[in-house]
Amino acid sequence: MSTVVVETISGIREKVAGARREGRTIGVVPTMGALHAGHVRLIERARAECGCVVVTLFVNPTQFNRAEDFANYPRTVEDDLAVCNEQEVDYLFMPSAEEMYPGPQRSFVEVGEVSEHLCGKFRPGHFRGVATVVLKLFNIVQPDRAYFGEKDAQQLAVIRRMVRDLDVPVEIVGVETVRESDGLALSSRNQLLSASERQAAPVLCRALNAARDSIRRGETDSQAIRERAIREFDNEPLVRLEYFEIVDPGEMQPVTTVNGPVRLATAAWVGKARLIDNLEAP
Ligand code: AMP
Repeated sequence: MSTVVVETISGIREKVAGARREGRTIGVVPTMGALHAGHVRLIERARAECGCVVVTLFVNPTQFNRAEDFANYPRTVEDDLAVCNEQEVDYLFMPSAEEMYPGPQRSFVEVGEVSEHLCGKFRPGHFRGVATVVLKLFNIVQPDRAYFGEKDAQQLAVIRRMVRDLDVPVEIVGVETVRESDGLALSSRNQLLSASERQAAPVLCRALNAARDSIRRGETDSQAIRERAIREFDNEPLVRLEYFEIVDPGEMQPVTTVNGPVRLATAAWVGKARLIDNLEAP
């Protein structure tokens, strides 16, 4: 059966209600489209665990703090539908901005501390936009399970926290990051890179690995670990580092000494693309 495209909230509610009446478990994979093998990993996991798989495709304007970034975001709807068909997705929910935000939005979800550092610091309002649209999507689709990538580790932490704090009845499933053979994490934004920028982009992953290696060798001082990582960026003139931080994996707060599990997280501008990546350590 091919994927059914649904553009309205009432339409997807009706489809999901039908699947639920048939006793199927509902899995949702929220995306902004330009689907790649990272998204496919999430869809495969949902397909393996749920009787009805809904992929949502919505480039959410309220989570972009720069109009230019929103305008440049890759849009490849035809290809995305082909991916959904191939992966035997039941429904592709693809609402317009008017469908999602018919009037001025007055209610927002603020998730607090977990959204303050890392990307939260450099993209004011970003996680408020993400949390709000994800809660809307949860209320629209009412899934049993929702699948998110560890590639966006802070986003995953924000959503886990929101679901816990607001008693949202959905199980959040985190899925490991899919990478290119040179280590670059797959991202829709990689499409914006020129050939030379693409060559420079794996520095994010290299810096994360260098930092993790130094932790594994026994370094515990966050500043020393950061300096080791930042040296990698110094050799890449095409890449402008935004942050490299070491945080606790639950609350995403910076740590000064590494004495347990941490998450290493980085963001950098490569040409027009803002790329992020992270690794667990040790
Ligand atoms: P996006 O369309 O970029 O908003 O991503 C939609 C979902 O796919 C998010 O949960 C991302 O974390 C996840 N995702 C994006 N890139 C990857 C990747 N390389 N590996 C695994 N998951 C990913």
